[in-house]
Amino acid sequence: MRLGVDLDDVVAECALPYLRKFAEEFGVELPPEPGWQTLDAITEVSDADKVRFRQRTYDGTFFGELEMYTDAPAVLERLASAGHEIYFVTARAERRRVITETWLRDKGIFDHAKAVHLRPQGDFSPTRTFGRYDPSGSARYKVGLAEELELHAFCEDDRLISQELAQRGIRVFLFDHPWNRDVEGPRIERVSGWSELGEKLGL
Ligand SMILES: [Mg+2]
Repeated sequence: MRLGVDLDDVVAECALPYLRKFAEEFGVELPPEPGWQTLDAITEVSDADKVRFRQRTYDGTFFGELEMYTDAPAVLERLASAGHEIYFVTARAERRRVITETWLRDKGIFDHAKAVHLRPQGDFSPTRTFGRYDPSGSARYKVGLAEELELHAFCEDDRLISQELAQRGIRVFLFDHPWNRDVEGPRIERVSGWSELGEKLGL
């Protein structure tokens, strides 16, 4: 099968280190189950400061310092050696390619993939707020690419992206996180992580 694999919060643990850094910077307390949903709930930091923090963080060493989920590399390796085609598909901007591919190589999983796709620079809408997360644009990008690559399934954590992929007939392995707990529907299968996905696929 041809499988799309998102990076952030699917292969790399991203929300938690991001929020820890954010909490440290602005001196805010994190709730018991922090996740991307936490950011919107924090009202004592202005939207402009949130956008600036995001930009500064992503322009720095953040993506190069992320940890991989411990069971990811073994399952990715088994997938590849069982003949499945893996495509890393991230909504990170194309200008993050070097830091992204270097990280994938350092973690030893670059060679398991047929290709690494990042969101092309020109794909970002000129009317969106610069530096702000853009779920609908990312969904459009990922759905379009999934159709172009004729992917059979996709590993994803984002609420909107997983629902739109499923609506277009693509099987979604939804990586369980606090921000996607309400997402369900045909073709959406929730998994706790790579080990469960490996079991599901008989690896
Ligand atoms: Mg993600």
